[in-house]
Amino acid sequence: MEFRFTADEDAFRTRVRDFLGGWVGPNGQVASERFDDLEREMAAQNWLTIAWPAEYGGGGASPLQQLIFKEECWRAGVSLDSQGVNLLGPSLMVHGSEEQKREHLPRIASGEVRWAQGFSEPGAGSDLASLQTRAVRDGDDYIINGQKIWTSGAHLADWIHLLARTDPDAPKHRGISYFMINLRSPGITIRPLIQLTGVHGFNEVFFDDVRVPRRNMISEENRGWYAATTTLDFERSGIERNLVAQRDWRRLYEFAASNRAALVNRPATWRHRMADLRIEVEVGQWIARRVAWMQGRGLVPNYESSMSKTYNSEVGQRIAEFGVSLLGLPGQLREPEREPGQTIAFRYLDARRLTVGQGTSEINRNVIATRGLGLPRG
Ligand SMILES: Cc1cc2nc3c(=O)[nH]c(=O)nc-3n(C[C@H](O)[C@H](O)[C@H](O)COP(=O)(O)OP(=O)(O)OC[C@H]3O[C@@H](n4cnc5c(N)ncnc54)[C@H](O)[C@@H]3O)c2cc1C
Repeated sequence: MEFRFTADEDAFRTRVRDFLGGWVGPNGQVASERFDDLEREMAAQNWLTIAWPAEYGGGGASPLQQLIFKEECWRAGVSLDSQGVNLLGPSLMVHGSEEQKREHLPRIASGEVRWAQGFSEPGAGSDLASLQTRAVRDGDDYIINGQKIWTSGAHLADWIHLLARTDPDAPKHRGISYFMINLRSPGITIRPLIQLTGVHGFNEVFFDDVRVPRRNMISEENRGWYAATTTLDFERSGIERNLVAQRDWRRLYEFAASNRAALVNRPATWRHRMADLRIEVEVGQWIARRVAWMQGRGLVPNYESSMSKTYNSEVGQRIAEFGVSLLGLPGQLREPEREPGQTIAFRYLDARRLTVGQGTSEINRNVIATRGLGLPRG
């Protein structure tokens, strides 16, 4: 058993680090106003879609190289959290027609088109198959009516990939179809939902007689659920949550190491807590890397992704909670003039969402218990 990257993977990490070195400021981070330029530069090198096959405008990297790439981006303060790159694109490669791939994949790879994910509804989150948005056939089109909620980035996106019910009489998983819809289509209204932190991350999206051509359906009519489960598998396999936890732990460590008052005159348990969290961050990193390692061997991670998602999101919350205690009263201060994400108070509030989005901790524990451990369903 050897816990290390190959020489080629190390060389790849150096290449990415050198590239990002040209973009970071004196604080080791890329300034947010440079993100658009960086994205364009990455797109030019096929790095936005680094793990996609070259034929679809990707960089042809292995899942482990993709993981290294993400680790280095996060280290430089760059989050490439794109629904098109991570969810719709890979799903289309598996379930899309050649025409759909040719139309949509290059525009994601070039950063020209941004996507949002229209799955959740007010009455359908964990129990997604209960969704009620309707799609009714009308000649070569479908007419969509209904509402989506928690739609991340819809206000910034150009297209949405959406699940709608095409057969209300079929058992619930068998009456769903999967569509791609241009968000500029007539009949779409996007309303902001402001988060606990004050950030506008997600939205409600309303569909009122929205016309979608049949060629924009992924897979077949009433078979959308099976394509969408592929999308959900891609959604949970990310390492991002561990990278957030690593970044937050490091900030606390730097604070504690440079402010003697933070730990001196406090019981040893405070230092032990810092050490415990370091252990948890490293355990989480190996759980997340295992997911990428499996993908690299052509295996399909399932409960392993749920383990990574659950563990790393909960570690992230524990770090934010400890951070607020460590800083004392200043830990409760928000500083709106600084970038969002800089204060521990912001991290504390923001961390709440980690255990809900991409499947709640309870749902992921259900997956681990039944598919991973083979325990009977309740
Ligand atoms: C930051 C963030 C971004 C998001 N972005 C998107 C997006 O872009 N597009 C999109 O479509 N959706 C998005 N979502 C929605 C997300 O997928 C749902 O919030 C999630 O699936 C949970 O659904 P719900 O909120 O309806 O909660 P519910 O499903 O109503 O769950 C409520 C509570 O009941 C528990 N529960 C439910 N069923 C079970 C069960 N069988 N066993 C045990 N416990 C159970 C849950 O764990 C939870 O604690 C986002 C959510 C967040 C937080």
